[in-house]
Amino acid sequence: MQYINRIYINGAFVTPHGEERFNLFNPATGQSIGQVRLANEQDALDAIAAAKRAFTEFSHSSKDVRIDYLKRMHAAVEAIEEELTDAIIEEYGAPVSRARWMAKHAASVLQDAASVLENYNFSRRIGIAEVVMQPLGVAGLITPWNSNAGFICGKLAAALAAGCTAVIKPSEMSAIQTSIVTRALHEAGLPAGVFNIVTGRGETVGAVLSAHPDIAKVSFTGSTAVGKMILRTGSETLKRVTLELGGKSPVLILDDADLKTAVPMALQAGFMNSGQACIAGTRILVPEDRLNEVEALMIQEAAKVQVGNPREPATAVGPMVSHKQWERVQRYIQIGIEEGAHLLAGGPGLPEGITAGWFVRPTIFSRVTNQMTIAREEIFGPVLSIITYATEEEALTIANDTPYGLQAYILSSNPERARRLASRIDAGRVLINTLAHEPLAPFGGFKQSGIGREYGTFGLEAFLEPKSILS
Ligand code: NAD
Repeated sequence: MQYINRIYINGAFVTPHGEERFNLFNPATGQSIGQVRLANEQDALDAIAAAKRAFTEFSHSSKDVRIDYLKRMHAAVEAIEEELTDAIIEEYGAPVSRARWMAKHAASVLQDAASVLENYNFSRRIGIAEVVMQPLGVAGLITPWNSNAGFICGKLAAALAAGCTAVIKPSEMSAIQTSIVTRALHEAGLPAGVFNIVTGRGETVGAVLSAHPDIAKVSFTGSTAVGKMILRTGSETLKRVTLELGGKSPVLILDDADLKTAVPMALQAGFMNSGQACIAGTRILVPEDRLNEVEALMIQEAAKVQVGNPREPATAVGPMVSHKQWERVQRYIQIGIEEGAHLLAGGPGLPEGITAGWFVRPTIFSRVTNQMTIAREEIFGPVLSIITYATEEEALTIANDTPYGLQAYILSSNPERARRLASRIDAGRVLINTLAHEPLAPFGGFKQSGIGREYGTFGLEAFLEPKSILS
């Protein structure tokens, strides 16, 4: 059992004023593995005050100094890769290969921010004006549980690169992972107060960050519902916001696609991170005259998807993060059946041979219409919908007929055609015949998938305000 009793304020590990204890679980077994003592409103206020004090000096630090800090943080997080990978598996249930990638990613985002900063010019001339990019102030960084360390390090890296100081509120469900990352970041030896990490509830610590006049900027990753709440609360003080929210990403399999490669890739896109991914490709659009072929291949490929013990190297789908999340996914599977979708693979209940833990059967529904609940709402579990289309135009209409716009996938043997369609899809990122990631390209959503972009130069500028100086 792990007991986490400290939060990180002003460069020191301190006991929170909050007294609530929150239980932590291993989702692969359902067993309790520890407890975290949560921060409360007072702790959030203390953290904001510390970050505000640190801002005066830090905002004037040189680029070189900040590059050095980011490199030190990168080295410190890189050094905990093993411990962090283990905690990600234990507390979140990510399959080992995914957990390893997540731990490496948490370190590499710090290095990436250092590279962006090296090449960034904070001053440019426009006509007779000198335009300088000025750090916004104290940033509130609110993160979810589905890639805890990566979101903490990614948001912090961009904020610090810009010269902002930060208060981070990670998900209360990721407290063990957070404590490991916090220790590493502390060892990097940045000035006190530059970053503060307060694990607490969204309704308390998160709400203070969204409302407090000394928070200039909120960068939030999480659900669309909470994102809207933060936007409303933040409007009182006209906070700058970056919101990275939900998705219902389409996977367009074009009629010229080689189905033998397209179908496995579509399943990988759908089941990534055990389906708990905002960018998961959950609506698979297929030409109606190839439906039979696609269905046969889907059944064949789905049977190969191994679900179970996340420490097993062959496992592709691990458990849902919590019992609540498991119930939510079960409810959507039930809704799919009730609304008349055809169950191609998976279904309700635990996977065969599994008796404990919050595992879901990787589920594929076919003959889904884009108006069904399972095609409209984000499920956040391994549940996919196959939707047919008659023409390319109809495929595009269905792809864009969603409140979301985070990511889209196009699978085709004709790159020019795929590129042409990509230009007509309303999504922040379109992947053509690949599941690759470009860490320096902007990431974020159209429509209700969010506001603003993270990573690379766009992500850095999200923490800066332009100022024109004329003389
Ligand atoms: P969530 O919105 O419930 O919580 C996210 C964070 O917000 C947590 O730290 C939570 O404590 C906090 N929070 C909750 N209520 C709050 C409030 N009233 N004020 C301020 N903060 C509050 O989301 P979750 O369940 O942790 O994560 C899953 C969601 O995140 C999914 O909808 C998923 O699509 C989304 N997500 C988006 C991206 C992206 O980059 N677009 C990435 C990962 C996850």
